[in-house]
Amino acid sequence: MSEHSFDLIAIGAGSGGLSVAERAAAYGKRCAVVESRRLGGTCVNVGCVPKKVMWFGAQLAHALADARDYGFDVTRGDFDWNTLKTKRDAYVSGINAWYHTYLADSDIAVLSGHARFVDAHTLEVGGQTYTAEHIVIATGGEPVWPDIPGAELGITSDGFFELDTLPRRTAVVGAGYIAVELAGVLNALGSDVSLFLRGDHLLRRFDSLLREHLTEAMLEDGIDILSRTQVAQVRRAADGTLGLFCEQGRESGGFDAVIWAIGRQPSVAGLNLEATGVVTDAAGYVVADAYQNTNIEGVYALGDVTGRAELTPVAIAAGRRLADRLFGGQPERHLSYENIPTVVFSHPPIGTVGLTEDEAREIHGSAVKTYQTSFTPMYHAATERKVKTAVKLVTVGAKEKVLGVHIIGQGADEMLQGFAVALRMGATKRDLDDTVAIHPTSAEELVTLR
Ligand code: FAD
Ligand code: NDP
Repeated sequence: MSEHSFDLIAIGAGSGGLSVAERAAAYGKRCAVVESRRLGGTCVNVGCVPKKVMWFGAQLAHALADARDYGFDVTRGDFDWNTLKTKRDAYVSGINAWYHTYLADSDIAVLSGHARFVDAHTLEVGGQTYTAEHIVIATGGEPVWPDIPGAELGITSDGFFELDTLPRRTAVVGAGYIAVELAGVLNALGSDVSLFLRGDHLLRRFDSLLREHLTEAMLEDGIDILSRTQVAQVRRAADGTLGLFCEQGRESGGFDAVIWAIGRQPSVAGLNLEATGVVTDAAGYVVADAYQNTNIEGVYALGDVTGRAELTPVAIAAGRRLADRLFGGQPERHLSYENIPTVVFSHPPIGTVGLTEDEAREIHGSAVKTYQTSFTPMYHAATERKVKTAVKLVTVGAKEKVLGVHIIGQGADEMLQGFAVALRMGATKRDLDDTVAIHPTSAEELVTLR
């Protein structure tokens, strides 16, 4: 095999591309990843990792506010954005460097540059062509920019991670994961945040209990939530601040930063997919079947570029399973996209898996029974600030098989994983009831629901 010829090439060294190459190399295959930016992709560089560092900072801000109630003689004092940003960026750079070493040690070639298909088995990167029997499109996604006057005055989540200072006033436009997470972080760290929703609700596809509790908590934290407000234009005022002009005639000014968090789109530009005949859908996502096959033999797609459950562990799981199937003698190995647990790192966090109550009722009608409770967790017994926790179980049939577990509140992010295992194994309400509670915790409410 020549130095330009591989068993498998992954386009994109993000969560998905790295995982498929890593697993394929473990089966003794000659692999390469192509990356035009930094190793690690969205999650490591401008996603989960730096976001979670910021979230920890924001959690600490909330804890500082509670500390006096626990008897500590502390005041919050100043917050230095630069300290947090510097440490965060150093942590991310460390992961980038680790990947370089790890890939070299794993005999996986890194082809630096933008990949462009020549045909279904040939790529061009930086003027050089490379061939492979198997090519995996794992190019991920990128933020959507609105097509309105002044859009360029705003930034996206990518720009959020470049901010050198904490904006005094921030407008966050959107109502999904990124909008609520960034709004929560900025608010906790001291920015005055307004959240602009085009519809009535944030996190529209989540269970109503989660939506309602999060809205209440965000309002309580001082975030201004403007629903049914479609931004139509951004203008810079004479004092340098930004003003938002909305279709509904509303105007809102004085912002130091406007963050577009209105969704993401697949990164397929410049890939020259036409040379392969690989089919994309109307929104540009690469169409892949349950086994990550595209319509062209030997070309696969996984992760965000396929538009299904855009989460890091999903891209990783799909990548590993694809390599198991292609090289590990496991012809049926593939990822089930059902019952994928997910956490929104809001304040408080949300953990959710399975069907929402509305989805379950649409499928199973009156056979659905739900159990829910809302309470103030014990942490707040001593604090003036009270943030509620709420949990809901969605069950079906006489055996009350659990279809959905929905949690919002302190610790929900760490609580969900085990319940996701139970749901995957087909747990019933009785199984949860028969599990001895752990006391005193918030999680015990899920096994004592009546
Ligand atoms: P990516 O990680 O995007 O990797 C694709 C790579 O391909 C990129 O590095 C890109 O530079 C490269 N590339 C693209 N085109 C080419 C080309 N033609 N040639 C060469 N290279 C190319 N998920 C979670 O599970 N938990 C979280 O907490 C979480 N938080 C997030 C926070 C934010 C702000 C964002 C934006 C996302 C978050 N996600 C989170 C989602 C997660 O980051 C993605 O689901 C995940 O990174 C997808 O992996 P991927 O391999 O499909 O694509
Ligand atoms: P989402 O799909 O979660 O949300 C997009 C939001 O943008 C929706 O609320 C939508 O509103 C709104 N929107 C779309 N178009 C417009 C518009 N023109 N004007 C105003 N609002 C608009 O996308 P995100 O970008 O927040 O996140 C992308 C994906 O990344 C997520 O789906 C998730 O898979 C992943 N992610 C995961 C995280 C985690 O695991 N914690 C964190 C961050 C991202 P409406 O509801 O009205 O349709």
